[in-house]
Amino acid sequence: MTVLFAESALLPDGFAEAVRLEIDARGDLAAVEAGADPAGAARLAGVVLPGMPNVHGHAFQRAMAGLAERLEPGEASFWSWREVMYRFLQRIGPDELRAIAAQLFVEMLEAGYTALGEFHYLHHQADGRAYADPAELSWAILEAQRASGIGLTHLPSLYMAGGFGGRPAEPGQRRFVHDLNRFADLLERLRPRFAGDPNLRLGVAPHSLRAVPDEALGRVVDLADAVDPAAPIHIHVAEQVKEVRDCLEWCGARPVRHLFDVAPVGSRWCLIHATHMDDAEAELLARSGAVAGLCPTTEANLGDGLFDLGRHLAAGGTFGIGSDSHVSISPVEELRWLEYGQRLNTLRRLIAASEEQPHCGARLWREALAGGAQALGRRIGRLAPGHRADLIRIDSSHPILAGRQDDALLDALVFSGNVNLVRDVMVGGRWLVRDGRHVHRDEIAEAYRATVARLA
Ligand SMILES: [Zn+2]
Repeated sequence: MTVLFAESALLPDGFAEAVRLEIDARGDLAAVEAGADPAGAARLAGVVLPGMPNVHGHAFQRAMAGLAERLEPGEASFWSWREVMYRFLQRIGPDELRAIAAQLFVEMLEAGYTALGEFHYLHHQADGRAYADPAELSWAILEAQRASGIGLTHLPSLYMAGGFGGRPAEPGQRRFVHDLNRFADLLERLRPRFAGDPNLRLGVAPHSLRAVPDEALGRVVDLADAVDPAAPIHIHVAEQVKEVRDCLEWCGARPVRHLFDVAPVGSRWCLIHATHMDDAEAELLARSGAVAGLCPTTEANLGDGLFDLGRHLAAGGTFGIGSDSHVSISPVEELRWLEYGQRLNTLRRLIAASEEQPHCGARLWREALAGGAQALGRRIGRLAPGHRADLIRIDSSHPILAGRQDDALLDALVFSGNVNLVRDVMVGGRWLVRDGRHVHRDEIAEAYRATVARLA
């Protein structure tokens, strides 16, 4: 049993002082007591928060961040970025993916993310043939998870078509494509590895309405049920205006509307982006209990558009944050961009704040914890008995936080600086980051540099 004593900690009902945290051998919180005695506990100065879940990303894209920022002939859009990405991923094999993902996971941990959802669509060899072991690239992700210690919800992605209506996949997409039987086989191979490891969860990700025909979407839900009846289901939807146009042209409905028409969307679902919705779709999403998986820095980088956060929260919607293409690895930056985008668009301030929760930064942080935990389908995001001991210690002695406490401290954390104030990070009862450095930072960074040098 590990016993910690936090001067201040964010508990489910708010901040508390003198908090004793007892952690059992599995890495779960066994007891959490405020106003406790520090005797016999390891003392944590400053403020302890639950670690932040990162609901969405594609690990290999970390190594191409910055490579798509040079103007090439033609219009620079999401679609031209996607061409650069397709070229880049042709050179990624298991060794490259392992090294890139490990570096990414270390950066995430150091930034305060303690769990992620890996939306994994890179499955096959560069020529489109399956590897001898069809789960080869999933194993690379899992090895990187083990090397870094981060919590992982692995979401193998089903990708069948190159566009709405079952259009054939393009050559650049051949590394992604499965039929349903092979996809079911992939999940079967992965399942045993996830049983009994409390830092892991297996889910399923139909890639998008573009890539998964309606008939197959129902089968994906069956496959998710076979993993387990609460297994998370993630899907990209309504990210781009062109996608909305194409969907309307194909079936007469907008993408989010159509998704609700053909799939049993509910609380185990996470709709990634859901940027372009009309009021009726926004209402559908908010009421369904599904999580909106928002990736503000990537959505800005790709020129996707702006999710209407005020409308979503007013309707009772939940959200989590993701770093998606990994152009930024910072929960602070994601949450700040999320709020600032709204302010620029509405010419108002404090969009995420409400009468009940007047602190904007604190509300953003809490909502992202709860929505992120739900989307990843794991007992995380709360310092409470039965939940994982996934936590971060913030340096509250830093001048940025001077004189700030509790919710005002979270406001300052989100809105007043670019210094990483995360000092220590624990996942499942293990310290992975001490004094700002991941315990394996140097060797993982070295392997990453060698990999990127080879790719260049
Ligand atoms: Zn994505």
